[in-house]
Amino acid sequence: MSAELVCFNSACSARYPIDEVIYECRECGGLIAVENRFDQDPKQLTSLWDSRAASRDPLDVSGVWRFREMLPFVTDPRHVVTIREGNTPLFDAPQAAAYGGVDALQLKHQGYNPTGSFKDNGMTAGVTQAKKLGIERVACVSTGNTSASMAAYAAAAGMQAIIFLPHGKIAYGKLAQALEYGALTIQVEANFDQILALVRKLAAEMGIYLLNSMNPFRVEGQKSIVIEMLDQRNWKVPDWIVLPGGNLGNVSALGKGLRELLEIGIIDRLPRVAVVQAAGSAPFYELYQRGFEGDLKAVTSPETLATAIRIGAPVSWPKARFEIQNTNGTVVSATEQEIADAKAVIGRCGIGCEPASAASLAGLKKLTAEGTIAADSDVVCVLTGHLLKDPDYVYHYHTDQLKAPGDVKIVSTFGNAPVVMPNDPAKIAAFLDSPAARG
Ligand SMILES: *Cc1c(COP(=O)(O)O)cnc(C)c1O
Repeated sequence: MSAELVCFNSACSARYPIDEVIYECRECGGLIAVENRFDQDPKQLTSLWDSRAASRDPLDVSGVWRFREMLPFVTDPRHVVTIREGNTPLFDAPQAAAYGGVDALQLKHQGYNPTGSFKDNGMTAGVTQAKKLGIERVACVSTGNTSASMAAYAAAAGMQAIIFLPHGKIAYGKLAQALEYGALTIQVEANFDQILALVRKLAAEMGIYLLNSMNPFRVEGQKSIVIEMLDQRNWKVPDWIVLPGGNLGNVSALGKGLRELLEIGIIDRLPRVAVVQAAGSAPFYELYQRGFEGDLKAVTSPETLATAIRIGAPVSWPKARFEIQNTNGTVVSATEQEIADAKAVIGRCGIGCEPASAASLAGLKKLTAEGTIAADSDVVCVLTGHLLKDPDYVYHYHTDQLKAPGDVKIVSTFGNAPVVMPNDPAKIAAFLDSPAARG
């Protein structure tokens, strides 16, 4: 087992030592990936992982580090920073299956992570690499789940977390966790791209470690989502895996995890992978429609209420394109109404998720309707974040007040508004007996 950094651009393939702090190739500007070499026996590996399921060691209890042979960049377990990430449920969801147009459907719910999204699967690996390098300060430019996750892992590691964001109104729901976990939060009077450029300069000068999307170790941690999913299915490969795409780090990680499992011989074929983008923020879908010809064209003002996938210039698109092509996958887009209704259906299953996550079910519904995915297919949708990440959205949907960007009203198709009643037992009893209350 060994690991090296390599430029993802196959025309370049420049190599760097695993502990080099580098976020883009110095030769060609390409994305950096971790290249692992494995020499294990597949049967021995899966029985080792099985045996750890009964252990109470924090590394074995983690749904990332239970599979640590897949992350050989960690050579000393004392560097691992874990707060019990992963270990997320794989639910059967019959109502969601019917809505999505398939006979059966499983939902892999990454919202059950410690900070409420799959960012924890990646951040445990990114912060572990920072600890291995002796770093004291980590930073990212983000207002959402990335900042919440980085703040928690930095706190657990005894590092300082620094969050940069554009100056303007702070969305409390998004930043609350980062503030609580003690992150230093700096609002800069500039736009996202300007701040990213500034932070990269500062990081290089001040020895601050960057945990934004281009950090290759986050991808290593996020591979565990598909490893754990397949372990939960006794290594039975589904026909399709459907997930939302924003910066496209997660689909890149999913594809890499699948390739490595295939290389070791733990699985013998690949599932097809479908990425779903929000229609108002769909540069990767546009690239797919052009037959993946040429470069991705950024969307200058991306719009969607699914804020976790409101990304106009996704960093990891070359990796995502490779993984979609390699799995004979597809890309689709979903409207705000489709995402909102799919989200409510996932809620009715007793599961719930944040808006971006529901894009997966909305996309599945489209792909079955157009005949790309057959009704008898074995499908897993990845839910990326927790229902309570965006409570305003939920309340507004159920009370028929939700508006998409451009003031477009979202119809409350599966609305469930609270009922106001007088303090009168007879009236409440009559209401509870009525068809309206019995549903
Ligand atoms: C980050 C995030 C996404 C998008 O993932 P990418 O790796 O950026 O494609 C989707 N859903 C949630 C909840 C997220 O936090």
